Parts: sequence; C-alpha cells; structure tokens
Amino acid sequence: MSSHDGDRTEPAVVLLSERLGPVTAIERRIDTDGRAVVRSAALWTTGEIHANASDAALIILGAVEPFDAAAFDGLPRLQAVVRRGVGVDNVDVAAATERGIVVANVTDASVEEVSDHALALLLAIERRVGALDAAVHGDPSSIPRIREPIRRLRGLTLGLIGFGRIGQALARKTTGIYQRVIAADPFGRSADAERLGVTLVGLPQLMGEADHISLHVPLTPDTRHLIGPAAFDAMRDGVVIVNTARGGLIDEAALGKAIASGKVLGAGIDVTAHEPIPPDDPILVIPRLILTGHSALSSTTAQVELGRRSVDAAIDLLDGRRPASIVDPSVLASPRLRIPELASTED
Ligand code: NAD
Repeated sequence: MSSHDGDRTEPAVVLLSERLGPVTAIERRIDTDGRAVVRSAALWTTGEIHANASDAALIILGAVEPFDAAAFDGLPRLQAVVRRGVGVDNVDVAAATERGIVVANVTDASVEEVSDHALALLLAIERRVGALDAAVHGDPSSIPRIREPIRRLRGLTLGLIGFGRIGQALARKTTGIYQRVIAADPFGRSADAERLGVTLVGLPQLMGEADHISLHVPLTPDTRHLIGPAAFDAMRDGVVIVNTARGGLIDEAALGKAIASGKVLGAGIDVTAHEPIPPDDPILVIPRLILTGHSALSSTTAQVELGRRSVDAAIDLLDGRRPASIVDPSVLASPRLRIPELASTED
C-alpha cells in the first residue's frame, strides 16, 4: 500500500489515534523499509477526522472515535482502519464496506483482563468494599449497618448476558464462587456451556433468576438500551449489575431510578454512554455505583499485546496480506475494495 506521485512512490501515511497514546516503538515497526510513515492525530470529532486524516491510508483507532459514513466520505485516500480492540460500535462497518474500506480488529487480547475486571466489580459491590472503606475512614459506627445485609456469594446466581469470549472466561472464573452460573446468548453453544458448568437460558429467564448480572454483548442497534425500564422490572429485587461491555447497552437514567428505588443494589460500570464522562453527567452522582473509566481491558501485558496485534494487522494490510480478523469479510469481494491485493487472498 503506497501512494504514487508520477514516478515517485510515497510511503503510505498511517495515523494512530491520539486516544491510544503516543506513537511508541511498537508502532515504529510500521515505519521500517519505507513502508509507511506513522504519526499521532486527534480524531475525536468528524471535523478533526477530516482535518487531520485526509492523507491517511490506514488509521489505528480506539473505542470512541466516530468513524461513521460522514467521516469516511471525507477520507478518499483511506484504505483500511484497524480497531485496537474488539468492539466496533464506533465504526459504521457497513458504510466502510460500501466504500471498499477494510475494517480489522483485535479480538482476544484482553479477554482475561475484562473478565477479571467484571469479577472485581461484582465482588466489590456484593461485599460493599467501597462503602466499608468510606465508613472506616469517615464513620466507623456505620460499619455494622453496612455489613448486615451482605449475602453469601455461594448462595447466589450469576447471569451472563453474552456467552462469547469474555462471557465464557468469566464463567470459568465464577463457577467456583457462585451457586449457579446461567447465560443468555442466542448463539451460545451447549457444548461450551456443558464444558464450563453453565446453564444456557433465554433472556427473560435470566432476568428473573439472576442475583448478579454481567453484560458481555456487543453494542448494536438491537442491543442499545437492552437494559432499560422493562428489563429492570423483570429483574429480581436487589440485583447487582456490572457492565464492562459498552455504555449504550444500559439506559443510564433508568439505572439511576432502579438504584434509587432499591431494585438494583448497586452497579459496576466500566463503560458509559458518554466517554470521557462530562463533568456534569448525571451518572457521576448516582449512589452505589462504581465507575472505572473504560479500564477493564487494562494490564501492562494486554496493552503491549493490543499494540502489537493492531500493528501486525496494519503491516499485513499495508503489505497486501489479509490480517487475523476482518470484521466484515464481504468487503474483500467488493469491486470498490481499496486494497486490491486482498481480493485474491484466500481464506
Ligand atoms: P464476542 O463476540 O466473543 O461475544 C459476544 C457475544 O454476545 C456473542 O457470543 C454473541 O452471540 C452475543 N450476543 C450478541 N447479541 C446478543 C444478545 N442480544 N443477547 C445475548 N447475547 C448476545 O465478544 P467478546 O470478546 O466477549 O466481547 C464482548 C464485548 O465486550 C465487546 O463487544 C466489547 O464491546 C466489550 N469489550 C469491552 C472492553 C473494555 O475495556 N471495557 C474490552 C474488550 C471488549
């Protein structure tokens, strides 16, 4: 992948979204052999995308930069984007495919971290870690009142909404903690459920039986506000909700009401509707809600792995090879495909 200017072949321009931090030695691998030049760019809005990425052949981006049809329309030289992570809800994949732009992602570099983080939030809420810490520092006389209603985890049912890579990793870690682990996923395989000691159920049954619920589904038009007023009505009283998937899955106003009414005991929320959270966002003042600022994927190991794997994908695309994961492989059959070498790549 390079741009031709008369007889001269210019190296392709690769952008690393500012959200992902500065260009490091990991991304510098792309620069070798004059393959491309890599630089960092602010891509927070459509205006910034058009202003800063007009010469980009490939962009490595994070979880929130808005790569919709309007953004793609201003980028005639763009051939591919690589999501440094699994979720592509901020990328209009159909619009990219229509324009022959390849969307690649990194599917499994942070499965351990996200499932660990979900578990940390579930346990922190049930065990009242935040409230007890605040009481010890502020009003030790309130400690017995906080302790009194804690439930034994071994007596509770954990419900996993989404039984893919992260849902299954959390199942593996929790069947020894909870009395029962159930999961709802229209594509969940009974062989995986049996192997992990999980019962696959429909979503209504999960809502009615789970004491703790953890979300592990992608954000799509179908799953937006999956957890809203009707879902809260269907849940057990005193339910705990953890969301390490995507903010748009939960109607945050309805969550605030469900916590205020006592329907929801507390929530662990890594991902929110608005990221970064604006200082006046109402979610900041909902009680019994732990916010962790889209950090579930974090560990030094995962960061290196995500960086390395997204760079592998970028280099594959720049060299005309198929990367490990293309979100919509139908783009390879498009007559508009902007990396024509990929069209002949075999599966
Ligand atoms: P995955 O594709 O392996 O699993 C997702 C599962 O959800 C699939 O099995 C799918 O069948 C199921 N599903 C889809 N719609 C559903 C519905 N309506 N009801 C029930 N199940 C449904 O993905 P994964 O690797 O497990 O990741 C899950 C999500 O976690 C990602 O989409 C991403 O948004 C999020 N994520 C967040 C972070 C973070 O830092 N917080 C990091 C990585 C991933």
